[in-house]
Amino acid sequence: MLLANRVAIVTGGAGVNGLGFCTARMMAEQGAKIVIMDLAVANPQQSADLLGAGHLGVVGDVTKKDQCEAAIQQILAKFGRIDILVNNAGITQPRKTVDITDSDYDAVLDVSLRGTMHMSQAVIPVMQKQKSGSIVCISSVSAQRGGGILGGPHYSAAKAGVLGLARAMAREFGGDGIRVNCVSPGLIATDINKGKIPEDRRASILESIPLNRIGEPADIGGACLFLASDLAKYCTGITLDVNGGMLIH
Ligand code: NAD
Repeated sequence: MLLANRVAIVTGGAGVNGLGFCTARMMAEQGAKIVIMDLAVANPQQSADLLGAGHLGVVGDVTKKDQCEAAIQQILAKFGRIDILVNNAGITQPRKTVDITDSDYDAVLDVSLRGTMHMSQAVIPVMQKQKSGSIVCISSVSAQRGGGILGGPHYSAAKAGVLGLARAMAREFGGDGIRVNCVSPGLIATDINKGKIPEDRRASILESIPLNRIGEPADIGGACLFLASDLAKYCTGITLDVNGGMLIH
């Protein structure tokens, strides 16, 4: 078991077709106690129950600092420690640069970037006390290549911000035994893009992916599991590209 006796939080993990839930499931299979944190509307306890007994669902909005701090207290009251944080919550919007409104910008950056900062700020003091911890942040290939398939420039900016934040935190907290890494997914079939890829674009998208398929949530779950576990104990500040070769550079 790679994660025996570890406690792992996955934000945005309630959607059973999403990357977060798949990551949570793969971590639970490796012995971790899972906390799924998500919006009330996504019913995180119901999703946590699907993983088996003893896992926790916490309602919380990562854009709200007080809710992140309250979630950490709730988790500590139940489990007494936190070993892994997966900053997975994110939203996207298809927009062109000149069409992005201030509220679009706020919505997209607040979940991915501010949310990653809030949750990391709330969890780091706990990990510092433990002298160990692993934070995995979900970025996107769209940060690296300037647009993925669906998200607008504000999404690319949010996810590029996540890369910089994660690297800076890796530098700051390495001495406390805390590792911080990113996974950068390519196009993965989840609810975020379901029904949004026009059939006529599908063939050209596949042509641009050397492994010639769209990714599955488990492709990302495996990468998160690796980075969260001791298999990656000398990795910090890295970006693990999981995109079928879409961005070989
Ligand atoms: P998804 O829509 O299934 O999951 C996103 C989850 O985030 C949902 O459960 C949602 O309820 C939750 N969420 C939204 N706002 C929140 C908030 N304020 N607080 C807490 N939770 C919130 O999408 P997914 O494809 O599983 O995406 C997971 C992550 O992976 C996102 O950060 C996304 O940007 C990133 N990503 C996805 C792809 C892809 O192709 N699917 C590619 C690159 C990156």
